[in-house]
Amino acid sequence: MCGWCCGAQNVCMRGRFAPSPTGPLHIGNLRTAVVAMLSAASQQGDLIVRMEDLDPVTSSRSAEGAQLADLAALGIDHRGPVVRQSERFELYRDAIADLDSRGLVYRCFCTRREIRNAASAPNGPDLPDGAYPGTCRDLSAAAVRSYEREGRAGALRLRTAGESYRVDDLVAGRFTGGVDDVVLQRNDGVPAYNLAVVVDDHLQGVTEIVRGDDLLSCTPRQLHLQRLLGFRVPVYAHVPLVVGLDGARLAKRHGAVALADLAARGVGVKRVVAMIAASIGLAELDDRPTLADLVPRFGWHLVPPTPWVLDIDQACGLV
Ligand code: GLU
Repeated sequence: MCGWCCGAQNVCMRGRFAPSPTGPLHIGNLRTAVVAMLSAASQQGDLIVRMEDLDPVTSSRSAEGAQLADLAALGIDHRGPVVRQSERFELYRDAIADLDSRGLVYRCFCTRREIRNAASAPNGPDLPDGAYPGTCRDLSAAAVRSYEREGRAGALRLRTAGESYRVDDLVAGRFTGGVDDVVLQRNDGVPAYNLAVVVDDHLQGVTEIVRGDDLLSCTPRQLHLQRLLGFRVPVYAHVPLVVGLDGARLAKRHGAVALADLAARGVGVKRVVAMIAASIGLAELDDRPTLADLVPRFGWHLVPPTPWVLDIDQACGLV
């Protein structure tokens, strides 16, 4: 039952855009946000925005404000107040307690370097990068005490058993990946991304997840957490990244990558919308469509599964 908007028995379509407020939104993030908004609007659904500010070192309120201003400038409306993960730690800890009560959580004292150097580090096409080798899975109580005496606090990890999941992605197609003993809570006590995102998407009634395809390999881990926690599985759409002419992920060295940089080079918001629309075949570069114009033209079959190659200098020169 939808307890948020229509109050009906059916589940309303709800998309979300969930940036990390660590700096200005990149043109690739903006494109993902536009696609999320167009998909939601074309299904008469709504879009929420969530700030993934778990990490107090890299996140800032000023970056959050700048990101929200960029979304508003593009014309992306979202429903309800912006939720911040930094204000929801109790919810994540409740989910960890639930998993722990079923014997699915253990403490891990490994440092990053120890994980990297572990001889038995699993690797293979089925496992995400940096998959955990399971070093601390069966530590004795004495070993735990010894780590504690060294002053190591320990992270919390999920106990897994080599599960594998298939994702039927709206853009990437079929993807199968394995699950490792993912971190649920970091050793500084901060809940971890994969757990928080799954809890939030569930509690916020998200039915469609649109995000960058750098997160595709994390999706099996999230499907596993959803299954363990009894959550509904949303639809996934992983949108490819933006690359420069050299094929590398678009970065500052390629020229302007954020709305403010583009504006400084004379590329206004309307042209940015046109560039994004053209990249998914919804408009010609010379058009100046609004997002509302694009809603009836949108279809997932139009979103290319390959990276968007963007020649920033050409885009700026054409103004
Ligand atoms: N916060 C993540 C990012 O900015 C996105 C996470 C997600 O959409 O699941 O890359």
